[in-house]
Amino acid sequence: MDTIQSRFPHLFQPLDLGFLTLKNRILMGSMHTGLEEEQDGFRRMAAYYGMRAEGGVGLIVTGGVAPSRSGWVAPFSLRLTSPSQVGGHQLVTNAVHEHGGRICMQILHAGRYGYHPLCAAPSRLKAPINRFKPRELSSRGIRSTIADFVRSAVLAREAGYDGVEVMGSEGYLINEFIVRKTNKRTDEWGGTFANRIRFPLEIVRGIREAVGEHFIVIYRLSMLDLVDDGSTWEEVVELAEKIEQAGATIINTGIGWHESRIPTIATLVPRAGFSWVTRRLVGRVSIPLVTSNRINMPDVAERILAEGSANMVSMARPFLADPFWVRKAEAGRVDEINTCIACNQACLDHIFERKTASCLVNPRACHETVRSFARVARGKRIAVVGAGPAGLACATTAAARGHQVTLFESSEELGGQFRLAREIPGKEEFRETLRYFSRQIELQQVDLKMPWTVVTGDLQSYDEIVLATGVSPRKVAIPGADLPHVFDYAEVLSGKKQVGRRVAIIGAGGIGFDTATFLLCRDSANADWRHFMAEWGVDVDYSQAGGLKRQEVLQPVREIHLLQRKATRPGAGLGKTTGWIHRSVLKKNGVRLWNGLEYLGISHEGLKIRQSGKEVLLAVDNVVICAGQVSERRLAAELEAGGIRCHIIGGALAAGELDAERAILQGVELADRL
Ligand code: FAD
Ligand code: NAP
Ligand code: SF4
Repeated sequence: MDTIQSRFPHLFQPLDLGFLTLKNRILMGSMHTGLEEEQDGFRRMAAYYGMRAEGGVGLIVTGGVAPSRSGWVAPFSLRLTSPSQVGGHQLVTNAVHEHGGRICMQILHAGRYGYHPLCAAPSRLKAPINRFKPRELSSRGIRSTIADFVRSAVLAREAGYDGVEVMGSEGYLINEFIVRKTNKRTDEWGGTFANRIRFPLEIVRGIREAVGEHFIVIYRLSMLDLVDDGSTWEEVVELAEKIEQAGATIINTGIGWHESRIPTIATLVPRAGFSWVTRRLVGRVSIPLVTSNRINMPDVAERILAEGSANMVSMARPFLADPFWVRKAEAGRVDEINTCIACNQACLDHIFERKTASCLVNPRACHETVRSFARVARGKRIAVVGAGPAGLACATTAAARGHQVTLFESSEELGGQFRLAREIPGKEEFRETLRYFSRQIELQQVDLKMPWTVVTGDLQSYDEIVLATGVSPRKVAIPGADLPHVFDYAEVLSGKKQVGRRVAIIGAGGIGFDTATFLLCRDSANADWRHFMAEWGVDVDYSQAGGLKRQEVLQPVREIHLLQRKATRPGAGLGKTTGWIHRSVLKKNGVRLWNGLEYLGISHEGLKIRQSGKEVLLAVDNVVICAGQVSERRLAAELEAGGIRCHIIGGALAAGELDAERAILQGVELADRL
């Protein structure tokens, strides 16, 4: 029989740290959530981390906490600098310990990435992603910054943390000391490698001396900077050895500086695509090594450990998506895991917009005290029409609360527009969300009627009716749009229509970009991490400092024109943390972007446009319409005409700027109120 033990034996092996044993090999990686800066943030963080501890994770690392004001990531970020701040943190540590968990506080000094005028760095060099130029730390300033780290660690111990993580990667202050690119000093803190690593070594040594033996000190080491003039591999190894000697308990992996132009965590990065970096360090130190980046399912995590690439795996976003990931994996209920699809939409993008983080597939994340989903005393009979993201989220959440739910779907498969999204190369993870909802339908005993196109008569006997009928592609009023070589995106992405070698795409929103990516017809990067590294110019032999090499030059497989009428930059509305990746993929593949134009007409010769007063004929075989969507409201209109009350959610309510984050959020929020 396939026992749990035999499925994930490495993942669920305890890790003995000498003075403390972690119950498994799973670390919840550091993530800033925005709760740190909320009014009742500590209470909310206690609920958030407490739930993850209850879910069984071996060790939690908090979001970054600054050791001083100059170390803030942004003005008024959370810091731990005085005993008066210990009480709030104790709410968090108590909540984690009550559930048998372990938690370390990350100490993060943002260095030149600090988005405020007090930011400081080894040298006065502005980061390309920051408008504030840092001041150069004096020798005294460096000494007092080391003391700040040590003080924070001591206060963290007083607050009940089981340890600290010293953030030494991602291009923050410590990392800036280590590499020549950002450290131009000529004193004892700059110049030779020994001088440049003096800063992290003194921090780790100082912390160890101050906190004693029985306290976890994790050092997050930048093993692959992915910037020019970053560390060489030999320097990475030497630093790791010295960090161990300085007293670290565990070394965690950091990949890529924030200013690097290589995707490191987005959905198109292959699963566990960077574990090869940690693997290179195996055997060079004797303390446990943690690997990270794009690990989201138990089989991937188990494989990494089984092949000896690391001693522990770190996952951050997967614990937003599912706080009970570990418990489900341990019980062999892998198909119940709500998988992180690495979209960044509700987590990182929110943080960049200075909003509280959450999760597209789990809107309860970071809102544990706000969205309760309490069970109802008496269930109602609820009909949900449409099994796209909005309907799926509403139906399964309502059923989990104790309602009797019938879910109607007119097509032969669940998912609505998400079924098209999962066809885009690099968005394969979206399949996991549909797998998750399918399983929830079974578990919560939702009565699924599919295929079933609902008419008013089907909805007579319900207490509540929810319309989640979604959207349809918008038709455009361009002369010739009804010609047989003009398709809409749904026809193309579903495989109903085949597209020739020369294509014009009308509409350069998210779906226009995705359709262009689809038409490039490359095999998914997810299939082969080596292919991904070559395409993005990552040197897997690590022969260059920073791990970069020339990107592979791609031969465009199609001639694609992506067009919009607005004069703004095409793709300007794409995700804050992922838009640059989508633009970069199209650019590398020779896709021609057009803006500020007028569509004059489509003929068998191609698409005629006018730009800056000049008429241009784009000679193409096909035109694909990606001009947004309209709400599917026919049923809503019928119900309204018959005086039948209903709730409308997702694309059926409003199609403009609709995405799955909003659709799912509306679904669960309504289900919480019914
Ligand atoms: P829909 O997904 O349209 O679902 C509506 C469902 O209702 C359909 O299954 C339909 O068959 C059913 N239905 C309609 N009428 C009836 C009836 N009378 N009876 C029974 N059933 C009925 N969003 C993101 O957030 N991130 C992305 O990266 C992303 N990428 C995308 C890529 C592509 C290529 C596409 C097409 C979309 C993408 N989206 C993305 C958008 C996202 O998929 C939509 O916002 C989301 O699916 C809308 O959800 P919905 O439930 O409101 O509607
Ligand atoms: P969209 O982002 O609103 O883009 C629609 C495009 O069509 C625009 O470029 C618009 O540009 C053009 N357009 C609108 N009306 C037109 C008309 N009548 N004639 C010709 N062109 C017209 O919508 P979308 O691309 O369909 O995406 C829908 C939603 O899905 C988005 O809101 C997005 O959030 C989500 N999505 C997200 C991602 C992601 O990666 N996060 C990916 C895909 C989809 P002009 O008006 O300037 O011509
Ligand atoms: Fe993962 Fe997307 Fe949720 Fe962020 S929003 S945790 S990337 S699924």
